[in-house]
Amino acid sequence: MSTRRLEEQSPDLASLEFLVDDDALMALELMVAGGDASPEAFVALAWQLRQRNPARALVLADDAEARFGGWPADARRGHAARLQLVCAEADWLAGRLDAAASRAHDALQSFDAVADARGRADAHWMRAMLAIDRGDWPGKDAELQAMAEAARGLDASRVDIAEAAQAYFAAFRDSSAAHARWGARFAAGRDGLSVAAACWVEDFRAVCAHHASDFVPAIRHFARAYTLALASGQPRRAVIAATNTGDSLNHLNDYPAALDWMQRGLELARSAGGPGAMGVALLQTAHTLRLLDRLDASREMLQEALELMAPLAASRNHAYAMWQLVEVELAATHFADALAVARGLVERADALRQSDLQSHARCGQARALLALGQPAQALAAAEAALRHGEGAPNLQVAALRVMADVHALDVDRALPAPPGVEAPSVALHVLLRALALADGIARFTVPGELLDAIAREYARLGDYVQAYAFSQRAGVSRETSRSQEARNRAVAMQVTHETERAQAEAEHQRSLARAQAERLETLERLGTIGREITRNLEPSAILAALDLHVRALLDATSLVIHRVSADGRELVMIFGVEAGAPLPPHRIAVDDPRRPAARCARERRELMTGGEPDADGGEAAGVGGTGHSRSVMCAPLSDADRLLGVMSIGADRPRAYAERELAIFRTLCAYGAIALANADAQAQLVRKNAQLEQLSVSDTLTGLSNRLRLDQVLADEAARNARSGAPVSVILLDLDHFKSVNDQHGHLAGDRVLTTIGELLKASSRRTDEVGRWGGEEFLVVCRDTDVVGVRALAQHLRERIAAHDFKGVGHRTASFGVAQLADGEDVESLVARADVALYRAKRGGRNRVEAG
Ligand code: GH3
Ligand code: MG
Ligand code: MG
Repeated sequence: MSTRRLEEQSPDLASLEFLVDDDALMALELMVAGGDASPEAFVALAWQLRQRNPARALVLADDAEARFGGWPADARRGHAARLQLVCAEADWLAGRLDAAASRAHDALQSFDAVADARGRADAHWMRAMLAIDRGDWPGKDAELQAMAEAARGLDASRVDIAEAAQAYFAAFRDSSAAHARWGARFAAGRDGLSVAAACWVEDFRAVCAHHASDFVPAIRHFARAYTLALASGQPRRAVIAATNTGDSLNHLNDYPAALDWMQRGLELARSAGGPGAMGVALLQTAHTLRLLDRLDASREMLQEALELMAPLAASRNHAYAMWQLVEVELAATHFADALAVARGLVERADALRQSDLQSHARCGQARALLALGQPAQALAAAEAALRHGEGAPNLQVAALRVMADVHALDVDRALPAPPGVEAPSVALHVLLRALALADGIARFTVPGELLDAIAREYARLGDYVQAYAFSQRAGVSRETSRSQEARNRAVAMQVTHETERAQAEAEHQRSLARAQAERLETLERLGTIGREITRNLEPSAILAALDLHVRALLDATSLVIHRVSADGRELVMIFGVEAGAPLPPHRIAVDDPRRPAARCARERRELMTGGEPDADGGEAAGVGGTGHSRSVMCAPLSDADRLLGVMSIGADRPRAYAERELAIFRTLCAYGAIALANADAQAQLVRKNAQLEQLSVSDTLTGLSNRLRLDQVLADEAARNARSGAPVSVILLDLDHFKSVNDQHGHLAGDRVLTTIGELLKASSRRTDEVGRWGGEEFLVVCRDTDVVGVRALAQHLRERIAAHDFKGVGHRTASFGVAQLADGEDVESLVARADVALYRAKRGGRNRVEAG
């Protein structure tokens, strides 16, 4: 008669995936929601939700921890380390880098100790992410390398992710070198990547295309990375991919589309949380706003981004935001502010040792210094920008433009000229060098502005032929730029259209997933409710739990629970409420044609009505009370094949119930049935035990208390007497010449006399008296709160009743009585012995009399 439990479900933790797609996540959710999931299932779900929903992941991690309570320390260690990593990830997302690092360190040691290679790989990944936020790029490479090594030969997806991330970050530094190293490994058309790995590969391809100024493929790859990041539960990556898509659109001059993507990134960053994601989204949006000349809005966003990213002050993104701020201040002609930020950026860029930032920082510094009237310092800064821009012609062109401006203003040639000047002026020399570099950049239209500057310098030098030629070229270049711009816009529009279609599809998928998640939340709740309901063995507690949860989950003005009567012909209400008030008890015949509950019991199936009066008649739709429910739902409560009862609910409004409600109701009914069956079994057990107990203390012939029970009562009464002084007395009686009954009428007739004596004694004594068979044809009556006077009177009464009785077929019989009251400090044996002595006296004195001892 054991209590039934729901099956325990457990995922395979030995092959825990790095990140799963939505379908696999759903399977895990179902496992956890569906009742008694194993602790490992909670670990696996917490792990998969670490970025999707860090708050919930932490709650699940706590849950898992509690469930491991009874496990030995070494068996828990691997799981504990996994939960450490979940917490580390939450810390990382919230910008608590030190806390995350210390957890990742501990987890790595534990994974080492239990030889969990996947765990080690994942700890290295966490450390790589932390290294990036700290601006420690070599450290990041080492950790990603370690991740790939840990997973090699064991888990292809983790190796792919580690290497694709390496490739992606390498492409930021030097995209052609990165392409040479990783291009073939991650070439298009390579199948078999996990969703999470595919996301990083798309990101890598996008960065390579962007740096090669191939913005159309860049947008496509970034947009794909965005979708894949969402599908694999990496919202932070999705934020970065969305804003990078926007950045590539900026380069195609499609600012509205760019802003759309920035907006998408911002919204996601807001909901996904974390200063890192939010900072990136803000700074990229600010960039677009600057390109649209909305300088104040841009500055405000950048300041917010810098504030948010304070815990990540050493990161590249933080430096990138500073660079954007330099550009905003220069455009706003706030040169002193620009200079101050640029100086800070120089320090950061040098610490990061990232040449693009180093060059940009100095270029900005040079422009601010020049505007502030410090040409010598401006020149030095521009030269430094040129050096750091080695290998990146666009950076060098920008540096040379500033240098040319410096020299153009240096009319008395106070500044040192660069070596090998052949042109008529230093400024022209520098401009022509910039032109040569710009000409060499593939797919780059030399800006009309640079050609104009050259034309102006020739004019200043009096060379009008060259001046005319360059201003002509500038016109052509502007024309080319304009038509290029128009083409870009067209391409951007097409790409936007394509990605929007893909996004709409993805959005649709996500809204389906959201609806599913809501259902799961209910399921998860149902799992808890199931455990709560089935834990009860007390029917009233079960009914109360059912009532509570039915009304919390469903629109139910009335709830009635019927049990099937023992003969199976009636439904007996065991619980009923309507509009908050209890319903009067009632019974329904199972063959009642009008009651939905009766039909539900007959047909053993769920019934759902919209509540409109049907052919069976209006009131028939009601759940059982006086009200008229407009929607009704009934479901059988069955345990295996046995129908236990019917649960019915009703609502005031029509069409309150549909498939979803039925699914919830069905589950609650299943739990209710299990609980009621368990309660039945328990009640049966209690009844059996009570019977057994009764048997053990009863005399089989007379049904009176036996010697065992009488001894118990005597001991209890003696104790009570000692405690409170309440008097207690006994009557011992023995039938007179009983042997002759047996001899004359047979043993059976003797037995019948004994039974009748028992009945007479029971009927004639008080409820508080304990009447028992002391043995053979002797009886003992324990009289509570009775002194010797009272007990003698009772004995006389009993004696008379017996003597007066005509025993069937035997005639009149008598009995002799000995009575005694318990004296202070006397024990039970002595009390009974005194009564026995008195009884003996009664026998000797002629029988059929009462003597006191
Ligand atoms: P006295 O007046 O001296 O008590 O005479 P008595 O015949 O009752 O003598 P005693 O008490 O010594 O004998 C008890 C007899 O009761 C013995 C036995 O045959 C009979 N007896 C005891 N238990 C049962 C029983 O369970 N059923 C029947 N039918 N007879 C019993
Ligand atoms: Mg006897
Ligand atoms: Mg006798």
